[in-house]
Amino acid sequence: MRSDKRADDEFRPVKIELNVVKSALGSCYFEMGKTAVIAATYGPQDVKPKHLEKSDRGVLACNYNMLPFSVAGDRKRPGYDRRSVEISKVVRESLEPAIFMEEYPKCIIRVDMQILQADAGTRVVAINAASLALACAGISMRGLVSAVSAGRANGKILVDLTKEEEDAPDAIDVPVAILTKTGEITLLQMDGIASVDEMKKIVKQATVACEKLGLMQAEALKNGIHSI
Ligand code: ADP
Repeated sequence: MRSDKRADDEFRPVKIELNVVKSALGSCYFEMGKTAVIAATYGPQDVKPKHLEKSDRGVLACNYNMLPFSVAGDRKRPGYDRRSVEISKVVRESLEPAIFMEEYPKCIIRVDMQILQADAGTRVVAINAASLALACAGISMRGLVSAVSAGRANGKILVDLTKEEEDAPDAIDVPVAILTKTGEITLLQMDGIASVDEMKKIVKQATVACEKLGLMQAEALKNGIHSI
């Protein structure tokens, strides 16, 4: 039994609120258990600095950051670090295939993600929020991107590991994102060592959970929602 009584293939309770940032074109608050993030989208706008501009397509810029009070225990040192630079990059790579970038030549679309509360899975929750923020901003997309991590802890294959589960001695954490329309995987990382067989099971569990999350995201958008 997991400490929060979830089934092995169950993700934490989800709360979605759209357009929570008045100054942004599109924004989303996404909560999954004790992990919470706000994502906001700006643009399409002129590219600055100019040398980043692409004549035939747009540029997507993603900024992921954890707030000092987002972590348990001691405050996190404010500002960006190596980890946030890496996560900003993988988030961009997860989202880019979903956007018709060719419709935005010479423009930049910016997505800022601030982690308000972190209890593992912050990159996947940030992707879920960012995908909805982009959709709310009316950015032309092939579909939504849904993300969740799966892995192993205490000898079991689990979906959506908590920080406590991630810290188990045998833990493997595999964040996965999919383009829900096609099932195409746009993020696959691995922390830990798994056999091929285990990895197949983990990715399968994660993609099934992503599909369920995708339905919740679509529902929130369809109803123009403010809270589910
Ligand atoms: P993810 O949040 O995507 O799972 P990591 O595996 O790097 O990414 O981090 C796992 C968890 O470790 C985070 O969700 C957070 O709870 C915690 N964590 C990460 N960085 C810090 C930090 N600088 N200080 C305290 N806790 C942190």
